[in-house]
Amino acid sequence: MTDFGAALLPGRVFAPGSEPYERATTPRNARSVQRPLAVVRAQNPGDVTVCVRAAAAAGLKIAVQATGHGAAADIPPDHVLLDLSALDAVEVDPQARVVRAGPGATFAKINAAAFRHGLLAPGGTAGDVGVAGYTALGGIGWMLRPHGMASASLLSVDVIDATGRRLHTDDTHDAEVLWAWRGGGGVGIATRLELRLFPANDLQAGLMLWSAGHAEAIIPAWGRALPNLDPSLTSALGILKAPDAPFIPEDLRGKPVVHLSAATVGGEAAMQTLRRALGALPDPSLDTLGACDDKRLATIHLDPPVPVPALGTGRWLRAEAGAHALALLAAADISPHSPLAKVELRHVSAPASAVSGALTSCPGDLVVQAVGPANDDAAATAVGAALSRVLTATRTVDAGQSAASFCDGQVRVREAYPIAVAARLDTVRRALDPDGLISASRHLR
Ligand SMILES: Cc1cc2nc3c(=O)[nH]c(=O)nc-3n(C[C@H](O)[C@H](O)[C@H](O)COP(=O)(O)OP(=O)(O)OC[C@H]3O[C@@H](n4cnc5c(N)ncnc54)[C@H](O)[C@@H]3O)c2cc1C
Repeated sequence: MTDFGAALLPGRVFAPGSEPYERATTPRNARSVQRPLAVVRAQNPGDVTVCVRAAAAAGLKIAVQATGHGAAADIPPDHVLLDLSALDAVEVDPQARVVRAGPGATFAKINAAAFRHGLLAPGGTAGDVGVAGYTALGGIGWMLRPHGMASASLLSVDVIDATGRRLHTDDTHDAEVLWAWRGGGGVGIATRLELRLFPANDLQAGLMLWSAGHAEAIIPAWGRALPNLDPSLTSALGILKAPDAPFIPEDLRGKPVVHLSAATVGGEAAMQTLRRALGALPDPSLDTLGACDDKRLATIHLDPPVPVPALGTGRWLRAEAGAHALALLAAADISPHSPLAKVELRHVSAPASAVSGALTSCPGDLVVQAVGPANDDAAATAVGAALSRVLTATRTVDAGQSAASFCDGQVRVREAYPIAVAARLDTVRRALDPDGLISASRHLR
C-alpha cells in the first residue's frame, strides 16, 4: 500500500491490486513488466504538475504512458506511472484544418472526428495508437507520401517540465522543445498536441492477400511497380501469418500469406496506378482496394487487436531495396512455426520536409519492419535471432538509421538519429529535465 500523492491528488492515485492500477500496468505491448509504486491517472494538466512535483519530492522517477503500444523497458517500484489515457479530448477545427488533442487520444478517436469533415490526421496503421508517442517517434502513416511524417504536421505542443512548469511551444515559443517533439522522442510531458489535418474526401484504400506460395510472383512485381505509383499512394508489402479473423478466407487463416496494403487520398485514378503497375498477377484470395472511410482504413494493415508481447526491429532502407524485395522478405522465413509473425517493407519515398524537427524527413525510401511474439525468454531469443537474420539480409541497402517506431519491445534503440541530432536532443532534454526525473523513450536511453 502506498500513500504517494494521495492527499495532493485525491481519487487519482492507485495502488497495486486496484483495477485502475492493473489496467494501466497492462500495456498494449505486454513484454514490459510494469510494477510502479503507484499509478497516477491524470484528469488534467494540473494533475501532471502536481504528480511531477510530488515524485521529485519523494525521490521517485516518472514513467509516462497513454496506450502502452510503445512499452518496452520494465517499470520498477522506484517509479510512479503517470497514466495519461484520460487526457483524450479531441477538438477539430475544420476551417483551419487542425486538430488539438490530448496525449491520450488515439488516432481512431481523432480520425472519427476529422473524417466527418472530409479530413484525416497523419496517423499510422492501427487506430488504437496514441497521438503523443507516435508523433514523438516521427509517425510513419498512410498519408506519408503526399503529406510527410506526422512529426512534420505537428504545429504546437503543450509540455510540462521536470519542475512542473507549463510551456506552450510552437515555432516562435520554446521552438527547440517543439523541434524535439517533431520525431525526437519528445522532452518533458506533453499535455496537448496540435496537428495539421489533410483532405481525404477521395480516400481509397484496402488490402490484397495471396497464399505465400505466390510470393515469387507478387513481391518482385510490387518492387518493380514502386517508381510508377502515384505520389499520393503509400503501400506496404509483407509476409505474415494471417489472423484467425472472419474476414480472412478460411483456408488462409493462421497460414503465411503475402499481404499488400495501400492507401491514397488521390482517388480512384491514383489507386489504379497500383493495379496497372503490378500488371497481371495471380488472382488474390481477398481484394478490398477501393473507396474507404476512416474506420476501414484502420483495419487494412491487419495489426493485432489485442495485447501482444512483441519484439521487433525497423530500419530505413535505400530505394534499391525495392528491386531486392523478394530476397529481403524471404530472409525472415515466415512459416507456421517460425518465431516471427511478420516481415514487411513500406514504401515511404517522399520529398524532404521543410519543417524543422529532429526527424521530419524520411531517412530512406523504404522501411523494413519485422516482429514476433516473445512470450518468454526462449521465445525472445528465437525472435531476436530471426530479427538479426532480417537485418543481415537488408544490410547492403540499409540507409544507416533505425526506424525506432518499429523497434517494438526494444529497451534501447541504437542509431535512431545522426550523432549531431542525438547531441542536440540531449541538450534540450537536459534543459527541461536535468536530473532525469522523466523516463526517456527507447531511442533516447
Ligand atoms: C499495432 C501497432 C501498430 C503501429 N503502427 C505504427 C505505424 O503505422 N507507424 C508508426 O510510425 N508507428 C507505429 N507503431 C509504433 C507506435 O508509433 C509507437 O509504439 C508509439 O510509441 C506508440 O505511442 P503511444 O502513445 O500509443 O504509446 P505509449 O506506450 O503510451 O507511449 C510510448 C512512449 O512515448 C512516450 N510518451 C507517450 N506519451 C507521452 C507524453 N504525453 N509525454 C511524454 N512522453 C510520452 C513515453 O516514453 C512512452 O513510453 C505501431 C505500434 C503498434 C503496437
